[in-house]
Amino acid sequence: RARRRRKWKKMVKVLEELEECCDTPVGRLKQVVDAMAVEMHAGLASEGGSKLKMLLTYVDKLSNGSEKGTYYALDLGGTNFRVLRVHLGGQRSAILGQDIDRQPIPQHLMTSTSKDLFDFIASSLKDFIEKEGNGLEQPSPRRRELGFTFSFPVKQTSVSSGILMKWTKGFAIEDTIGRDVSECLQLAMSRKGLDVRVAALVNDTVGTLALGHYNDEDTVAAVIIGTGTNACYLERADAIIKCQGLLTTSGGMVVNMEWGNFWSSHLPRTSFDIDLDIASPNPNDQGFEKMISGMYLGDIVRRVLLRMSEESDDFGPSSSKLATPFVLRTPLMAAMHEDDSPDLNEVAKILEVLELPDVPVKVRKLVVKVCDVITRRAARLAAAGIVGILKKIGRDGSGGIASGKFRSDRPSRMRRTVVAIEGGLYTSCTLFREYLNEAMAEILGEEVSSHVILRVMEDGSGTGAALVAAANSVSE
Ligand code: ADP
Repeated sequence: RARRRRKWKKMVKVLEELEECCDTPVGRLKQVVDAMAVEMHAGLASEGGSKLKMLLTYVDKLSNGSEKGTYYALDLGGTNFRVLRVHLGGQRSAILGQDIDRQPIPQHLMTSTSKDLFDFIASSLKDFIEKEGNGLEQPSPRRRELGFTFSFPVKQTSVSSGILMKWTKGFAIEDTIGRDVSECLQLAMSRKGLDVRVAALVNDTVGTLALGHYNDEDTVAAVIIGTGTNACYLERADAIIKCQGLLTTSGGMVVNMEWGNFWSSHLPRTSFDIDLDIASPNPNDQGFEKMISGMYLGDIVRRVLLRMSEESDDFGPSSSKLATPFVLRTPLMAAMHEDDSPDLNEVAKILEVLELPDVPVKVRKLVVKVCDVITRRAARLAAAGIVGILKKIGRDGSGGIASGKFRSDRPSRMRRTVVAIEGGLYTSCTLFREYLNEAMAEILGEEVSSHVILRVMEDGSGTGAALVAAANSVSE
């Protein structure tokens, strides 16, 4: 019995150490806020000046709601591929109608040739266009225009063109790297006999910001927290120092932060994070993303549980499944976290799938606690990231990082500020969302945070690309 008690204590100690390492009191979050704002500055000051790439998007005008007509969008970036048609009525929030066709990308195309992939995309668009005529579509002599949401790292050369820097998320097609992806699409459409112009090339965060801004002009930034995580925001052109003399009609430009790669010594990192990073295909890369996004949270929890199971027999016979990377997907982890039944039956069921039957209730409670610690840390760090953006643009109620001498708490001067959010982790995981919202209020304070609104944009990345296409249309 004494031996058992000793082992139980060791297991509890793993949890206690985890809690301590992952602690994110508001003081620490504020350090992350400051680090984010400082890194944003550095990334804007010079090429390679920060782990934040701060990429130019050439999107300098967001839809003002006056656009009319039908625009198309293609959304390629995750597991699903979408084709959309958006009918704009010329008045704000008057998206008259919208049709969407979703399909998974056939696995073999992800590692095939550029021509195969873009021919598939062009065929899907052709099928979609041929099916139209639902009454809303006005027969129009003008050429069709589309926005292309392409969520991979791209070096933009204009609002409608850009060079693929590298593939991510399981795609690996050598001959696309270094090429203009809009041109690849344009050529494929010509091969299919489609007369459609690529009027905008954007990534998913930019699409989400465009839809957010269309719905509400106070929208200044967009954040995605799904499988991966990223953010973009509206910056003053003269603050983009690495691009001297950048002229834009609006005086502003959307900057794609690629914030998944943010790093700061203030981030509360554990040995589990370090091990996950070493085992990943991209060590030392995407450090922020690895602490926050849906692709990784389940696996951090798995690593902690594995460690605990090594300390105690209470998990039952040592499981082989728990040692398999990524067996515990984030939605399953979230389901354990949300289990509020007295006996934690859902936790028991999921542990059984992991070949851990008969885990006693008191151990199941520890499992829920582990899920809580990891989810809470992720949500609170994401909140700090968002406030970092607000601080950079002077919307955090402090007077802005650039104007320190005027810094004072004058919340009455705080402008209403909206951040568009998309992504399965934020939209589907209630506890994550609650922790994030709570941390925003803690960092900003009640008064300032009452002026900051996080607004979910469903299908924002695709719809928004059609809006950017409309704003940059040649026929308007
Ligand atoms: P993607 O980011 O792949 O384009 P989504 O924005 O829909 O797609 O995000 C999907 C991701 O969100 C999943 O990979 C998963 O990690 C996470 N997710 C989805 N549903 C839940 C849930 N109920 N609880 C926790 N995480 C979830």
